[in-house]
This record gives sequence, structure tokens and C-alpha cells, in this order.
Amino acid sequence: MTVEAPVSHLRENPYDIAREQLRRVADAFAIDSNLINVLSECKKSVVVSIPVGMDDGSVRVFEGYRVTHNIARGPSKGGIRYHQDVTLDEVKALAMWMTWKCALMNIPFGGAKGGVICDPKQLSELELQKLTRRYTSEIINEIGPERDIPAPDVGTTPRVMAWIFDTYSMNKGHSVLGVVTGKPLQLGGSLGREEATARGSLFCIREAVRKRSRRIEELRVAVQGFGNVGSFLAKFLAEDGAKVVAISDSRTALHNPNGIDVPAAFAHKQETGTLEGLRGAETITNEELLILDCDVLAPCALEQVITGENADQVKADIVCEGANGPLTPTADEILEDKGVLILPDVLANAGGVVVSYFEWVQGLQEYFWKEAEVNAKLNDIVVRAFNETWATRETRQTSMRVAAYGVAVQRVAEATTTRGLYP
Ligand code: NAD
Repeated sequence: MTVEAPVSHLRENPYDIAREQLRRVADAFAIDSNLINVLSECKKSVVVSIPVGMDDGSVRVFEGYRVTHNIARGPSKGGIRYHQDVTLDEVKALAMWMTWKCALMNIPFGGAKGGVICDPKQLSELELQKLTRRYTSEIINEIGPERDIPAPDVGTTPRVMAWIFDTYSMNKGHSVLGVVTGKPLQLGGSLGREEATARGSLFCIREAVRKRSRRIEELRVAVQGFGNVGSFLAKFLAEDGAKVVAISDSRTALHNPNGIDVPAAFAHKQETGTLEGLRGAETITNEELLILDCDVLAPCALEQVITGENADQVKADIVCEGANGPLTPTADEILEDKGVLILPDVLANAGGVVVSYFEWVQGLQEYFWKEAEVNAKLNDIVVRAFNETWATRETRQTSMRVAAYGVAVQRVAEATTTRGLYP
């Protein structure tokens, strides 16, 4: 049986969006059109079929992808997504965003992404392991510590990274710590990696709030998504003194204008696997969460949740893109016109790849750092990138997104030009 891709939740083609964003940046920063032609394409896209012997004795064939967008600044880096709506164009867009994200953070990586069309929640642990090991074998010539280094994304976990690490290492005949990041701590993972994306978002929000001459303690925050990024971001913001007035997962959204008990939500989600049934908050929809009366809105689930249809109803003053691509370009324009400060994904959720970089460095050296050291270095890199983006925004009188992309694309363009076109 071959598994067909279901109709995607994406209304617009993300690769078209990513290319359109690049064109806008090229115009704003007068970047050579020949270079933009090169950067608009992905260097390599691999499509693999993944046959898996299922628990019931049948064989299902899944489709998987690994895309490298650019390697001008170093080996490519990017997560692997297990989701039923994955498409090749989505993976290409995510790979391109990874190139800009690594360049903006000024870490020595290019961009890549992977994906398998599957619903991991519908697979047993054994089926998931078989799928992961076969997918790894199919892309084994593409990945490696000096070549392309995968990491977790939606639907993949440290457990999945451990299977990738093991499969790759078994084929090489020795442990290769640098082949993948987001590994469990006992297998060469980095302290602070699990919370790193949310911590990076927190650092950006702190800076943005300061620029707006406000204090975190007076903010009401709504967070969409209670997975890796959303749950830790809600926790950190609550710890900083903000009032988290709404949270959500795929099944439910919860609202309490007086503040949700985030540690209780953590415990409830861990115990029951859902936010449904959490006491002390009113149930709303995920759509209502996005347009709630709040100061900071952090979409931390999927792409394209704020569009031309709902953007003018958004009331937040700061939007922090914890997820990749949660705003469509039309939504972006509407919010910019309203004076909303948008912290773009390539800046706001880059904490994960920064600590993945630290994990890769630690793995190559087989020398591991303390958590405080990881978090302090993360703060340095994210705050520097925030300030570079802010300064570019001011001098160019443009949005944070165009400024962030501008800084990033210029760095990649410079590396590409300096290396020269081969042959
Ligand atoms: P995750 O799988 O851990 O969590 C996703 C969350 O979104 C879950 O709570 C899920 O229930 C919720 N969700 C799913 N569909 C939803 C819907 N239709 N409406 C509302 N909520 C929904 O994933 P994650 O790692 O937290 O990633 C979330 C986003 O952040 C993705 O866009 C991902 O690419 C991006 N991101 C993640 C990392 C990372 O290190 N994990 C780094 C950078 C960017």
C-alpha cells in the first residue's frame, strides 16, 4: 500500500512565499539578480521511498525528502519533520529559511530540511523506529557531520534523533556524534537544547519589550501551540512575570484573562497528552486565540495561521514567530501597517539551531559544556542578531523581517561571491 499525501493545511505554497520574500529583500538591498537566481533555487532535493513492515504484517510505503538549499557558509543544517501534510515545496521553503536563519545568527552553516509524509501519532514505536532507520539509510550519502546535519522538527523527538545517530554510526562502524543534533543527553545531546528555541524567542521578546519601553511584568501573552517551542515559551514568560492569558494545542485552546497556571498546564499535558480538561480556563478556539486582546502573540504551532483574513483582527502589539512561517506575506503587510512589531521566524525561533550548533561543536570535540554556559552563549548570539536586525531596520526604515533577511541574504551572497562560481 502506498500512502498518498492528504490535502495540505497550507493555503499558499510556502516555497512561493519564501522566494517572494527573497525577491523583496533583493529589491530593498539591491542584491545582484544573478545571485538571487542562484539563491532562489535549492542546491539538491532528494526524494526517497520508505517501505516499512507494519505491525499487522502489511507493508506501507512512505515518501520522504531531504533538501539542501545552500552550503556557501558551511555544512547544511535543518530539522526533519514527520507530518501528514509535508510536501516537497514545504521542505524546500523550510530549507531556504534555515539558510537565512544560520546566516543571521552568524553560525557556520548553510540550510537544509527533511520530511516524511506520515502521522507519527498513528505509528507504533517499532514502526516509527523502522521508518526512521530506513529513511536514514536512504539519505545516508547526503548527511554527515561535514555535509548535512539533521535535527528535530515537528513530529520528531530526541528518540528519533538517537535512531538516526545509531543507524548512521552502525553503517560507519563507529559512533559519529556530529551527524545529528537534538540527541538525548546520554548520547551526546547538549544541555539546554530542549528549551533552546523557546529561550531564543524569550531573549527576542525581552529586547523587543525594552525597545517598546515596556516591562515584561505588565504584558498579557497568548501562545499558540504547546509543543516544544510553545510550552517552554509560555513557561519562561510566566517565570519572567508576564501574564499568559491563552495557550493551545491542536485539540483545544484555553483562555483566562487573569492568567493561566502554566506549570499546572505542563503537568496536565504530560499526564493526559492534551490540554483538554485543564481547570481554571475557558475553552476557546485556536482561531479566537489569535485575535484575543493581548500584548504579545506567539504563534508556535504551524505555518500560515495569520492570513489576509484574520490579520486585521489581531490585537497584539508584538507578534513573535515561534513557528516557521506562521504569517502569510499579506498578513505581514496588514500587521506592519497597523504598527505591530513582528519578530520574524528567522530571528525569533533561531535559538534551536544555535544550540544545535553548540551540540555539534561539543560532539566534534567530545567535550561538554555546563547549561549556564550554553544559555549565556545563546543569549550573546541571539541578542547580537536582534540588535543587528534592529539597527538595519532603523537605517533602512523597513520591517524587522526585511531587515533580518537583508542581513542574512547579504552574508550568504558575500560568501557565494567570495567563493566564486564553480567551475
Ligand atoms: P511540536 O510538535 O513539539 O509542537 C507543535 C504544537 O502545535 C503541539 O502542541 C500541537 O498540538 C500544536 N498544533 C498542531 N497543529 C495545530 C493546529 N492546527 N492549531 C494549533 N496548534 C496546533 O513542534 P515544535 O518543535 O514545538 O515546533 C513548532 C513550530 O516551531 C514549527 O513551525 C517548527 O518548525 C518551529 N520550530 C521548532 C524548533 C524546535 O527546535 N523544535 C526550532 C525552530 C522552529
